[in-house]
Amino acid sequence: MCPLITNIQKYSIHDGPGIRTTVFFKGCPLHCLWCHNPETQSFENEIWDVCEGVAREADIDGLMEEILKDRIFYDESGGGVTLSGGEVLAQDGEFLLELLKRLKTEAIPVFIDTCGAVPYERIKPLLVYVRAFLYDLKLMDSEEHRRYTGSGNGVILDNLKRLWEDGAAIYIRVPMIKGLSAQKGNIDKMICFLKDNGIRPEGINLLPYHDTGSGKYQRLGRAYEGESFEAPGSDEMEEYVKQLTAAGFKNVRIGG
Ligand code: SF4
Repeated sequence: MCPLITNIQKYSIHDGPGIRTTVFFKGCPLHCLWCHNPETQSFENEIWDVCEGVAREADIDGLMEEILKDRIFYDESGGGVTLSGGEVLAQDGEFLLELLKRLKTEAIPVFIDTCGAVPYERIKPLLVYVRAFLYDLKLMDSEEHRRYTGSGNGVILDNLKRLWEDGAAIYIRVPMIKGLSAQKGNIDKMICFLKDNGIRPEGINLLPYHDTGSGKYQRLGRAYEGESFEAPGSDEMEEYVKQLTAAGFKNVRIGG
């Protein structure tokens, strides 16, 4: 089945190093209440309030043509392509493999931005084509994770261990919501999990919550359930940077 894509973001500088083209696939196994791209959650196409389709079918030739237009920027900045979503790893496996092979043939480095909530069998065949994973960790308590994302975190944590054991380069990304993911106890548990499993990420990005996606829910005819969420203040964010750095992790940063 041909995946749907909602957007091809050019000149992106927050989804990995250098200047990148980020491709947003539609469909995600999680339904995070804070999601700022709600149009990427359903695997079905939807209609914006202006009667315009949310997504279009991806075709590999068209995608490659778009991506290759900016090759000079990738080469000069150390950038490349980031496959994101929604959840790219939940898309058709044959399509993904073919796209990754074409990108490798063109020597374009690929990052995959993932929530990790897919069977590991979907990830393993892609490893040789992927330069690094941007891997989301949200809530370390599985029941809390289920409450706020619709799913427990067992598969996500297990896949992270297996990715590390299989030699993948990993950047951890944490959406920081005050009193929820952004609380010392959650970050303590994250540190314990990473250390207990010997996982040494290339970097940890702490991403302060923002509500810029809330208007999109209305445009999709849905209610936004994240009104009570807020970002931690800058002092509190700095505390988490210090906490993670003191625990021995490198390249801990606020933002993408
Ligand atoms: S994992 Fe990302 S794309 Fe999926 S629902 Fe959560 S925030 Fe949205």
